[in-house]
Amino acid sequence: MQIELIHTGFFYADGGAMFGAVPKKVWSRHYPSNKQNSCILSMTTLLIRTGERVILVDTGAGNKHLKQLSYYRFFNLTDLHYELFKRNIMPEQVSDVILTHLHFDHCGYLTLHKQECEQLDVAFPNARHWISEQQWENFLSPNPLEKDSFFDENILPVKAKGLLHLVKHNCTLCEGVSLKLYNGHTLGQIVPYIGTKERTFVFAGDVIPLAASVSPKWISAYDNYPVTSYHEKILLLTEAEKEHQAVIYCHDAYTKCTTIKKVRDSYKSGLEVQI
Ligand SMILES: [Zn+2]
Repeated sequence: MQIELIHTGFFYADGGAMFGAVPKKVWSRHYPSNKQNSCILSMTTLLIRTGERVILVDTGAGNKHLKQLSYYRFFNLTDLHYELFKRNIMPEQVSDVILTHLHFDHCGYLTLHKQECEQLDVAFPNARHWISEQQWENFLSPNPLEKDSFFDENILPVKAKGLLHLVKHNCTLCEGVSLKLYNGHTLGQIVPYIGTKERTFVFAGDVIPLAASVSPKWISAYDNYPVTSYHEKILLLTEAEKEHQAVIYCHDAYTKCTTIKKVRDSYKSGLEVQI
């Protein structure tokens, strides 16, 4: 089992939105922002090589919607195909793509424009694409607040090719990779747990997007169900602390992965873990 983080680009998000009800005076001690109150967020793909399978977790925003999403000022975007090519992996060799959820910054690279034409190709033509059934149904009939985060072009061509697979419950994808479902930020987020010789790594997705979001009450204003987020974070963090798991923060531009420590009745990020 070999795991690696592939960085796919940065964007700006409003600090107030990222930390919800937490005052800037407090959150600014834990995450930097500029004069406009914007925080730099990264996008991260996890590459898992088991020997038999090549698995990706999330794909970043791609480049199809940059004009519509200009508010986020994406920069230093990398091409995921090229990143894989540098690691001797061709798109056809990717066996599985696990999508934590279908917001644009996690699944934008699933489809690509064919050269100089409007038609879309799926980026990973032989991969089984895993999404939770609950997230899929949520995508088909989103609530008005979440609707703008979904783009049909990212996922409908995958569905049309018969590559979409729905996860109903917590399950094992293959030896060493299990999938657990969490609610809060959106419905039915998949959180992959990857067991290596050293320890278990948890790709927390938007359940805990930043090391500074570990504190259970630090909940983003982007979360659709904040009280649920609180309870679900406690579940994830309780296990992570007890089992000495390492949590990967997909949007943190500065801290990629840490252990979790319990501080009185709350949790904080612990020691940084190298991947
Ligand atoms: Zn999201």
